[in-house]
Amino acid sequence: MAQHVVRVRELVRQFGTRKVLDNLDLDVRRGEFVALLGRSGSGKSTLLRVLAGLDREVSGDVRVDGTVSVAFQQPRLLPWRRVWRNVSLGLHGVDGRAVADRALAEVRLSEHAEAWPITLSGGEAQRVSLARALVREPDLLLLDEPFGALDALTRLAMHRLVEDLWQAHRPGVLLVTHDIDEALQLADRVLVLDEGRIRAEHLPPPRPRRHADLTELRDRVLVD
Ligand code: ADP
Ligand code: MG
Repeated sequence: MAQHVVRVRELVRQFGTRKVLDNLDLDVRRGEFVALLGRSGSGKSTLLRVLAGLDREVSGDVRVDGTVSVAFQQPRLLPWRRVWRNVSLGLHGVDGRAVADRALAEVRLSEHAEAWPITLSGGEAQRVSLARALVREPDLLLLDEPFGALDALTRLAMHRLVEDLWQAHRPGVLLVTHDIDEALQLADRVLVLDEGRIRAEHLPPPRPRRHADLTELRDRVLVD
């Protein structure tokens, strides 16, 4: 288990008579970046909820070793809390403001620390959600289509940011996405969920594999 942050065997999650996850096996190593593809309704979000401990109506063996953070497609910020409070909420025994400020600097939102969530753009709100996930220093970061609602340029900037954060903190990552290019660009391993199981695995070439001109474009987009 030590070198795995996730170890799942024969996981079954059933809604009524339908087995959405049907004897699924999955391993994620510590510090590994895994992308998960699969058709709409194939059970990707269900799997993430199980791994996050939000759904326990399952059978099989689910082991997650360490702390887990989740970021969803909708950032789900609390509108009545300032940005920095959204980031530090639920942290105990630390100086929440200092921790939030550090995380907000990492996602390049320092100047929005005092802002109300409603004043943020979609990309900014998503970055707050990433900062909120990161302050927990998770061993496992679950990302459920976090970039799906963003415009193409913001999405590129977010790819760069997520890659940089991953390099800096090295959590295990399980990223659900519909975007095959995104999966190939970011992940060490690309999995396909189909009919309740992991049916295919693809190993992209080793890093670095960023497209040089795209990298420059992303650097420009992220300066705001
Ligand atoms: P994905 O994220 O891959 O699009 P989901 O995991 O959200 O798929 O859903 C997989 C299937 O499980 C869908 O058919 C969905 O309708 C069903 N499902 C998910 N949650 C529930 C629930 N709480 N009750 C009944 N069916 C559900
Ligand atoms: Mg989903």
